[in-house]
Parts: sequence; structure tokens; C-alpha cells
Amino acid sequence: MTVLLEAVNVVKRYDGAGTNAVNGISLQVEEGEFYSFLGPSGCGKTTLLRIFAGFETLTTGSVLIGGKVMNDLPAYRRPVNMVFQSYALFPHLSVFENVAFGLRHGAGRQIAGLDIAAEVDKALDTVRLKALKNRMPSQLSGGQQQRVALARALAVRPLVLLLDEPLSALDVQIREEMQEELSRLKRELNMTFVMVTHDQSEALALSSRVAVFNAGNLEQVGSARQVYEEPSTPFVASFIGNSNLLEGKLKEVGGALSKVELPSGEIIEVLNPASLGAGVPVKLVFKPETVQLAESSKFSPASLSEGSNRLAVKVRNISYQGSFTDLIFTTTGGAELKASLPSHDLPPLSLGDATAVFLPPQSLRLLAAAGSGEP
Ligand code: ATP
Repeated sequence: MTVLLEAVNVVKRYDGAGTNAVNGISLQVEEGEFYSFLGPSGCGKTTLLRIFAGFETLTTGSVLIGGKVMNDLPAYRRPVNMVFQSYALFPHLSVFENVAFGLRHGAGRQIAGLDIAAEVDKALDTVRLKALKNRMPSQLSGGQQQRVALARALAVRPLVLLLDEPLSALDVQIREEMQEELSRLKRELNMTFVMVTHDQSEALALSSRVAVFNAGNLEQVGSARQVYEEPSTPFVASFIGNSNLLEGKLKEVGGALSKVELPSGEIIEVLNPASLGAGVPVKLVFKPETVQLAESSKFSPASLSEGSNRLAVKVRNISYQGSFTDLIFTTTGGAELKASLPSHDLPPLSLGDATAVFLPPQSLRLLAAAGSGEP
């Protein structure tokens, strides 16, 4: 695979800032990928995207596009184009003229004999808006305006399309339609997309790979499935999939299952944690949808010790969501435990009720607690 976009040890410190907005990030985006920068507000993802686009300078390190160092090249000479959250259409120009603008004044202007009308039509066709080409932006819905912005960016045929939270200004239903639109464009054009988002479901739905950012650093890069199902750090686990994180100590390692002891003394058995040794402080990671109520649990493998993986809890919050009900429990040790249970077989529960949950061993992951010196 060809690497199209590369960041090498990129550091960005804004003037007067006490910390680095981007703190030495290296990553590679391959040709044809839909690559997302995902993370909470302020983690540096937009800054890095803007550095690729040439709208922001970097402090140290380099960015390469198509194998060439871009550090000192102005934005308009880079083979990329950017779509913004706010569409940034010219309000006084028609849809047609908005899309033509980049071809007349941007990278496209060097192409001699370019049939601008045909190129605009083609770009508007790609986003299925040809019929509206004479309208003004104010006569379009938010989703349509964003499709014009996409057409304008695509018309100049960039090597890479950079998307800065392109869907976040749209309401939920239009956002879903636009997600499909982006997926379709990706499939049909086989272009390389890099998208900044703080919305994990958007990143997971669209991306071939996701880079999870935290406070200027890269926490994990992987496929959507990997970052969701195999988070490599406690931060990724809690940010993606809303995982539970319970602190404990690895008490016994060996056999098919190892034992983790919680501060309450309760024992949780987990599939063998390859790289961790007995005595290590750990975090037990599991998704809310894998939690079961002990009384209705159908899982009791012969290998599980009597009473293992059952935790006494109290109901702290109940939130009916339709087919699922989200519950927040408090454990004996005072930790919060989130569960998402099918509403149809949920026994009647009230706030403050004491009950017990069951954590199936195969749904549990172990991460070394920070500072334990283990991976
Ligand atoms: P958001 O989704 O809120 O935009 P982000 O992850 O994209 O968040 P950045 O916008 O890259 O984060 O910001 C990273 C850090 O740099 C933040 O602490 C932010 O306050 C700071 N920052 C961003 N732009 C500037 C600027 N022009 N001058 C000074 N500090 C800035």
C-alpha cells in the first residue's frame, strides 16, 4: 500500500500556551483509506488536520503528502482540499458558481482548456445536486449546503479530502443521510479521506482506520472493530463504547481463567491475560451491553468457581431507551457500573434496590493500571 499522508513527530505549541496542542504525533494514512481522527474536544485533532492542510504551521516535525515534505508549502499549493463544519459557501454565489470557484481560482486554474461547466456538473452529479445548480446557498437545507461544499472540494480532484467535523452542524436525520453519502462517495471515487470527529459512532461507521487522540497524543490506531473491541488503553476503553473500568488486582494467573480481586474482595475470573503477572494492579474493562443480571444469567461454565463474576450492586439510575434500558449501578466498593439490558426481560427494578450482576469471562478485558509498569 502507498502511504499518501504522513506526520512525523509533529509538535504544535501555540504561542503563549503551556502545553503542546499536538505532542509529537506520527501517523501514516494509506491511499484509498477513510481515516478518522477521533477524540474529545481540545485533544489536538483539528490542529493536526489544519497542519496537513497548510492552515496552521507546525512547531517541529514534518508532514508529507504523496511522499513530499509540505512544511513550508502554502495551503493553496498542497494537493489536498478541506471541507469545514460550517460549509463556508459564498452566500452571494449560486451553487454552480460556488463549485466553479475552486476550479477558477484554486488548484484547478492551472489546467489549460478545462471545461469548467462540465467539471461542475460532474461534481454536482457526484453529490446528486445537479438539479439545484442555480439556487443560492440560502435556498438549500444544511445537508444540501454541505453536499455543495463537498462537490466544491471534490471538483479540483485533490489527492486527499480533509473533512473537519463535516456533519456536526447537521441535525440527526440529515447527519445519517450524509454519512451514507460519504460512504457512497468513498466507494465510488476510491479517494483518500481524513476526517476529524468527536463522534465515535460516526468514526466507527465510516472509517477504515481510526486514530484516537487524547491531550495531544495518539492513544491507539486501528480498525473500527479493533478500537471498539480491543481498546489498548483505559482512555480508549472509556471514550469508545462507554466501557466500564473497574480497578482490581490480578490475584492468580494460570489454567484457563485467571482471578482478579476487586477492592470489595469479590473475585472476577477472566480469560488468561497473556502479558500480565500475578500481583499487578489492573483495570477490568467491559461494555455495558455485556453485563447481565445475575438472577437471569444463562451463563454458568463448569470452570467458573462458585460465586465468581457476580457482583453485589445497588441501582443508582434507570433510563428506558426503548428496546434497551440503561442502568447505572454502584458496586460494594463504591465504583460506578453501567449496564445496557434488553428491556423485554428486565425484572422490575427501582432506584436503591440491591441486586447482583454477572460479568461473563469472555466479555472482560484486562488492562494494566497506569503506573504498574506493564503494557
Ligand atoms: P475541538 O473538537 O474542540 O476543535 P480538537 O481536538 O480539534 O477540539 P484543537 O482545536 O486542535 O482540538 O485544539 C487543541 C488545543 O489547542 C486546545 O487546547 C485549544 O484550546 C488549543 N488551540 C487551538 N487553536 C488555537 C489557537 N489558534 N491559539 C491558541 N490555542 C489554540
